[in-house]
Amino acid sequence: MPIATTNPATGQVLKTYEAMSDEQIDAAIERADLAFRQLRETTVAQRARWLTAAADRLDAERDETARLMTTEMGKTYAAAKAEVTKCATACRFYADNAPGMLADEPADAAAVKAKRAYVRYQPIGPVLAVMPWNFPLWQVMRFAAPALMAGNTGLLKHASNVPQTALYLEDLFRRAGFPEGAFTTLLVGSDAVDRILSDPRVRAATLTGSEPAGRSIAQIAGREIKKTVLELGGSDPFVVMPSADLDTAAEVATTARCQNNGQSCIAAKRFIVHTDVFDAFAEKFAARMAALRVGDPMDDGTDVGPLASERGRDEVHAQVTDAVDQGATVLCGGEKPSGDGWYYPPTVVTDLRPEMRMWSEEVFGPVAGLFRVGSYSEAIEVANGTSFGLGSNAWTNDPAEQERFAVDLDAGNVFINGMTTSYPELPFGGVKNSGYGRELSAAGMREFCNTKTVWVGEGEAGAGAGAHSE
Ligand code: NAP
Repeated sequence: MPIATTNPATGQVLKTYEAMSDEQIDAAIERADLAFRQLRETTVAQRARWLTAAADRLDAERDETARLMTTEMGKTYAAAKAEVTKCATACRFYADNAPGMLADEPADAAAVKAKRAYVRYQPIGPVLAVMPWNFPLWQVMRFAAPALMAGNTGLLKHASNVPQTALYLEDLFRRAGFPEGAFTTLLVGSDAVDRILSDPRVRAATLTGSEPAGRSIAQIAGREIKKTVLELGGSDPFVVMPSADLDTAAEVATTARCQNNGQSCIAAKRFIVHTDVFDAFAEKFAARMAALRVGDPMDDGTDVGPLASERGRDEVHAQVTDAVDQGATVLCGGEKPSGDGWYYPPTVVTDLRPEMRMWSEEVFGPVAGLFRVGSYSEAIEVANGTSFGLGSNAWTNDPAEQERFAVDLDAGNVFINGMTTSYPELPFGGVKNSGYGRELSAAGMREFCNTKTVWVGEGEAGAGAGAHSE
């Protein structure tokens, strides 16, 4: 894949980059390793000041950074501005809370026959981050902010279609005061990942992206015995039960499906509706989806911009066509527009069956699958019936049902009467083929820490030896 900025609204290639050579990659890893030795000697308070400076710069540079993202991958300018602000918020969250998250945790010294025992969180070294284009700033920031605060250094291999945003990130952390090499953007294709992750100086990897990319990184990391966090795809269920407020559910469903032009891992993708309210919900939802304005992502009035690539749009249309050819019903959209830009209309498809691709695959565009179910247990069966388990949504005003959904939905998160989103305060990640490990919150920061047990005794013979010695 060429490393280039191509405007999805026009198809025009605006800027291309040469991939870095092996020598340049090795030099960057060396700088990251040297920077790690420097960074781990700094105080948490110092790193917090740098991260706060990064937040201030993000706020000050919001509009031009947002414009860059919109130009590179087509999200609406309004969404891009909100993404920059969210990144600044996450930087401040970690600057404020990391001291507590990284503080030593005392253990029960008497129970472990010690004078003193505690848990210490220490950085592990340079971490490779392989990132996707869909939230080009946020996906990186939710790794970078906690990793840098913990004292690790970052090597970013960003998606090949967002090189300018990738370079902006390196520049941002440098200008905020982090040492040279603390955060480095590697302009490389995915073929360079094996070389980078195999380097003994690189201690771990985090990947946000597709299942095939996750498998590939996990294989390399397995061979090299390195920790990984994988945030992969999802086909999140959005269940609507009879007690739900249907107007609100239909409104939120529309946003949940079409945010980021439908290209979000945690977008609701499968709308599973109880038969008692199916027709009413379907009508409200399809009307709202059809009313969304598709167009130039820089325009204030646009709800849905172009998809990020022509290949991505072709894939979405192929999934819709596959369903329609096998008898599915299109309630709105479904036609691929002609003309410049990789636009696709908000689309609702129902009468889906298991043999259709849309039943089980992730659809990465503004296309909703609508499923009719007759009971709570059938809703759970359909909701859990894919290989994914990232986010999930359930709409019900029955308190007992709310509790049951929280337990029964097989996903990394359950949002009741709301849409799945990420917060710096809450862990984020999936189960099943949606990946493993967590980002955000203290859990995300500690993924790339050495959770070190420290035991201090009196130096007496026999102390510290329990029934088992391992
Ligand atoms: P992708 O093809 O997997 O690309 C993501 C990143 O992985 C890019 O930097 C890409 O580099 C790299 N990559 C691709 N194949 C690789 C391989 N074999 N080895 C190493 N690196 C590889 O993903 P995408 O299709 O662009 O992005 C959409 C996917 O990401 C969807 O499935 C979506 O659900 C998922 N996603 C998940 C989350 C989450 O938090 N769980 C968030 C956002 C997106 P190149 O660009 O150079 O190919």
